Amino acid sequence: MLSVDHIKEKLQSALSVERYIHTIGVAEEAQKLAANYGDEQLMKKAEIAGLLHDCAKDYPPDMKRRFCKEYHVPVDEIMKRQIDLVHPFLGVEVARREYDVSDEEILEAIKWHTTGRANMSILEKIIFIADYIEPNREAFEGLEKAKELAYANLNHAMLYILESTVDYVKKRGRELHPFSIEALKYYKRMTEL
Ligand code: FE
Ligand code: FE
Repeated sequence: MLSVDHIKEKLQSALSVERYIHTIGVAEEAQKLAANYGDEQLMKKAEIAGLLHDCAKDYPPDMKRRFCKEYHVPVDEIMKRQIDLVHPFLGVEVARREYDVSDEEILEAIKWHTTGRANMSILEKIIFIADYIEPNREAFEGLEKAKELAYANLNHAMLYILESTVDYVKKRGRELHPFSIEALKYYKRMTEL
């Protein structure tokens, strides 16, 4: 794996300025969450996964399609209609190839940061949540509540953010990915227990 400095340097040329700032915010927040819920090893993984979670997001649409083919990333029907949805899955392959990441836990955290899924690892939840609450985001309704939940209980934070995301996606008339629906059902059940 490349050093943190080298990763940052490469990201600066791969991402827009706004996305780079967001990325740094996610890496910082993810490290804080990891300190709250785990050890130093988790913090290190959280930093790398946070830095790389959007590494393929600013590729133009045609480039996303082309690299998905080249790297054998499956593109399902929903992704075909909303090509940006491939960025976490494509990001895994870019992280592997261009940033020399082989840690499967880090790669899985990149993979599930947008849709979520049922039964996520702690690192997966941390990246999903940090993406939502990172400090460089503009304030929006529900942000404070999400932050509070993030440091109190990861499963409650997951449910809260998934529900907000579903509302947001519906309001914009977009389709919800089945992974998100599964995740929502799962975290509803988990938080009822
Ligand atoms: Fe993303
Ligand atoms: Fe992001």
